[in-house]
Amino acid sequence: MIEGDLFKSLFDVIPFDIYVVDIATYEIIYMNKKMIQSRGDYIGQRCHERIYGEAKPCIFCKIPYLVDSKDARPLDKTIVFELFNPVDDRWYQLQEKVITWPDGRTTKYSIAVDITELKETQNRLAEAHAQLALKNKMLEKLSTTDSLTGLCNRLKIDDILEITLYAAQRYGRVFSLILIDIDHFKNVNDSFGHLVGDKVLKQMAEVLQSQIRKTDHLGRWGGEEFLIIAEDTDSDAAELLAEKLRKAVEITTFPEAGQITISLGVATWRDSDDRITIVQRADNALYRAKESGRNRIVVEG
Ligand code: GH3
Ligand code: MG
Ligand code: MG
Repeated sequence: MIEGDLFKSLFDVIPFDIYVVDIATYEIIYMNKKMIQSRGDYIGQRCHERIYGEAKPCIFCKIPYLVDSKDARPLDKTIVFELFNPVDDRWYQLQEKVITWPDGRTTKYSIAVDITELKETQNRLAEAHAQLALKNKMLEKLSTTDSLTGLCNRLKIDDILEITLYAAQRYGRVFSLILIDIDHFKNVNDSFGHLVGDKVLKQMAEVLQSQIRKTDHLGRWGGEEFLIIAEDTDSDAAELLAEKLRKAVEITTFPEAGQITISLGVATWRDSDDRITIVQRADNALYRAKESGRNRIVVEG
């Protein structure tokens, strides 16, 4: 009895809810002062009914894991777990162990620490992390996208060019660049206004995009210039693609601006190339396409 009183007086000074259950009947045989004060006296009632509002023993009940499965002897084992109790709408961290109660009964004690505030803070933190991750993704997208056309911007297409160059140098994977410039685009702005010019750029992006493969990268290189990086594409294949693009634009009607054409310069990777030299050759080819009359393609010589 002294031993039992000692138990109780120890449990009574602990500032968390503590209750003890007879594991044979689920009857609550002890509650500490703190728990009685906050919840009322449940002694003599079943834990699942009174504490958790369940008609049958709880599915999360840890008793089966805390006793020997053969003879139901207490195991020297403590289980700590977190649990949401819908009866009082709060989160608890529970520490449970099976012990022999001073009167000889096999019992389970539970120490329940209310962690609701902690959980709420955790949830807010997790939510803040998720929001941040989302914002980062949006920022990344924004920083690599051209806002007018939705294509890769110069920064991004430059990055892709660097990676493609690396793959070419490392694995000999040939690729080509097609630099595209709208013909007489100044006239579009001058005749129909800047807003129509913007619409033309958007539609142009769509027309070009519709003609290329998933392994081709299209970006807005400058004002009315676009660049395509065509992976695994040699000079002949790039010429075919460029001609396809030229024709596709030629037969497109731009609602407020009518017919528009493009000039294209094609350059294919060489061993000695870096980012500057290959773009320069595409630019030279484009210049020659302009010089020789526009609405045409020139493949570097
Ligand atoms: P060509 O290339 O055939 O030699 O003639 P061009 O008239 O297209 O030549 P240029 O490169 O000199 O002119 C490009 C024009 O594109 C000038 C500029 O006002 C216009 N431009 C550049 N960026 C934008 C834009 O974002 N929106 C609009 N509306 N116009 C733009
Ligand atoms: Mg230009
Ligand atoms: Mg132009």
